[in-house]
Parts: sequence; structure tokens; C-alpha cells
Amino acid sequence: MSEEQLDLLFDRKRQDSGEKSPRQSAPSESQPGPANDVEKPSALREYAGAIHIHTRYSDGSGDIDRVVTAAKKCGIDFIIISDHNSIKHKLKGREGWQDNVLVLVGQEISPKKNHYLALGLDERIKPHRNDLWRHVAQVQEKGGFGFAAHPISNGRRLGQAKVRPWVSLDDERIGGIELWSYMIDWACGLSRYDVKELIRRIKNPAEAIRGPSDELILEWDRLTRKRRMPVIGGIDAHAKRYFFGRLTIFPYEFLFKTIRTHILAPAFDGTLQTDKLVIYEALREGRCFIAYDQLYPANGFNFKCVLDDHVWNIGRQFPFQPGMRLEIVSPREADLWLIKNGAVVHKSTDRKLIYPIHSPGVYRVKAALNHKPWIYSNPLYIRHKTDV
Ligand SMILES: [Zn+2]
Ligand SMILES: [Zn+2]
Repeated sequence: MSEEQLDLLFDRKRQDSGEKSPRQSAPSESQPGPANDVEKPSALREYAGAIHIHTRYSDGSGDIDRVVTAAKKCGIDFIIISDHNSIKHKLKGREGWQDNVLVLVGQEISPKKNHYLALGLDERIKPHRNDLWRHVAQVQEKGGFGFAAHPISNGRRLGQAKVRPWVSLDDERIGGIELWSYMIDWACGLSRYDVKELIRRIKNPAEAIRGPSDELILEWDRLTRKRRMPVIGGIDAHAKRYFFGRLTIFPYEFLFKTIRTHILAPAFDGTLQTDKLVIYEALREGRCFIAYDQLYPANGFNFKCVLDDHVWNIGRQFPFQPGMRLEIVSPREADLWLIKNGAVVHKSTDRKLIYPIHSPGVYRVKAALNHKPWIYSNPLYIRHKTDV
């Protein structure tokens, strides 16, 4: 959906005041998509979803009803199922609103290397050896978009082969990056022979969570200097069962409370057709942030650029103008880092931060609670006038 179409959607919603969203999330303070570089005053809403979920159609343990029940219990707004090389749930008509949860079906194109989370496709893409660019191009040709899945990871997962890193992320055909993956983070550095460490991590998974890999962040910051590179959070939920089902690592109910991607978007209207576009557009544009909600629900977090009555939301690219300021709002006091072109320019412990800027740059926010990584925002791409 283009920004023009989004604007139309906003207008339609304003006119049709009787239309109810199936889940009334708190309105954010944010402003909607732009016409030229000016944002129109209308409330965007915030929705939180769990992305990257496997079911029985690949190597996950749960069927779709099990997954939806877990999502409902956790109070999330949407889930994106991405079985390895399969969109069977979609073909069987299971995409849509179910029990107040919007179920979307993508696929994880899974050759040996370079897994790719493909979204917005009506047909399955068969992996062709390790031909990454062929997959990426196919997704694009068929009108979809995708995220490089767990691109840098050195962990082993229980009973599974090593997750292999991506060859390169420096290509504009890649739609974005799965920056933070719960299961990859949990398993990072874990040797299958270190039983003591394994038990420790099973007993206290939160202790193992360290945040996205430094290497990946470095690469992301490098890429965003050149172009927009949206990031999302995933969980890579398999809910694998061990010891005759007595141990599940980790149950869907558990994982859905961990890393979520929060989008800022027009209100859902309760139809699959519109709401799917609303979510996919927000992800594609990077109008979203990643949060480890298990620490504390990140709903209400906001990062934007303001000049007079103009507002630019995360994910936007626009020219620098004198007098601009950045505003960060956190749902609770947290350690906040403001990062410009990969370097920290401000750090404080706050609930709200207003930071005047005097030069262009790619600005993003990281937040931590009790020294634990909590929120990673997509950037605001504030460029030189001549670069936009
Ligand atoms: Zn994968
Ligand atoms: Zn996966």
C-alpha cells in the first residue's frame, strides 16, 4: 500500500466513525503517514505482534488452533506464522481474524543458508539450493517482501543443525532484517555438550537474553547510512518437545510474551484484507519498534522528530531542517540511548527525552531496564537535503 493509499485509508476511517476496530489499542501520540513531508493530524494506533512462528506444517509442535489459543491468552494483536517453505495455512483459508487475533501467514524460505522470511505472497516459493538472490528476487517479483531471518547467529539449537549466517545483507532487494530473535539470542554461544549451561538456560531463560548481536547491529548501522533498512523482532517459535512431551522449549504461550514487534498504524477495521495491508505496510516501512515485553510491556513507547506542528514517525526518511527536535517517550523510566550513525550521542535514565538536533543523521533509540535490553527502535533517517 502506498502512502497515498494509506492517507485514503485514514480519511475513510475518519469519515466512517461507526467502524470499530476489533481490538481497541491505546491511541499513540504519533501522527500518520505524510503528504509531501508534512504529517496529517490523525491518531495512529499501536499494535503488538509475534513474528516468526513454526507449526506442524514444518518443524513446530503445535497446530494452528493451539498457536491461536496461545496468542489470545497472551493478548497480542497479530501473529505471523512462517513455516519452513510452506504456506499451507493460507492455502487452507486459515489466514484472518481468529478469536480476536489476526493470523497472517508468511513463509520462511529455508535452504541451508540465508533463511528469508517472505511475507505477502499467495504462493509458496520452493528453495533452490542456496540461491539467495533467486529467492529474494522471486519474492519481489510476486509482489511480496521479506526480511533476512536470524542473519548472524553462532548458536546451536537443540537437536538442530547450526543456523548459518547470511552471505551479505548489503543489497537493496532485501526488504529488512530480523534484528532480534528470541530463540537465537537464547541459544547464542550454547554448545550442545555443555549440559550444565543448557539446564541453566532452560531454568532461567531470561538470564541468557543479551539482545541482538553486536556484529549485526554494526552491520545494520552501516547499511542505514546508505538506505532505509527496516528491522523487526522475531521469536522463531518451534515449541519443540523433549522427554515424551514433558519438556517444551519453549511453549508458544511463553514465547508470545517475549519479543514482539510493535507497529504504529491506522486502526484495524476488522477485515483481513485491510488489516493485513496495514501491518505489512508498517513492517515494510519500518514504522515499528522491537520490544522484549516480558521485561515490561513497551506499549506507549514513541520516538519521533518534531518541527513546529510537523511530526515524522520512526522509519521515515526526510531532509534535515534547523529547529528539529527528537522526542522519546518511554512507558516507564529506562536507560535510553540516542544513537546517531551508529554512535551514542546521548544517554540518560528517563521517561521522556527531548533532544534538539543540529545536523542530519540516522537516529535510533535503544532502551534498557535493569541492564537488560528492552527496546530497539527503527531509525529516523534525517538526510541532507540533497540526499532525499
Ligand atoms: Zn531459520
Ligand atoms: Zn524459523
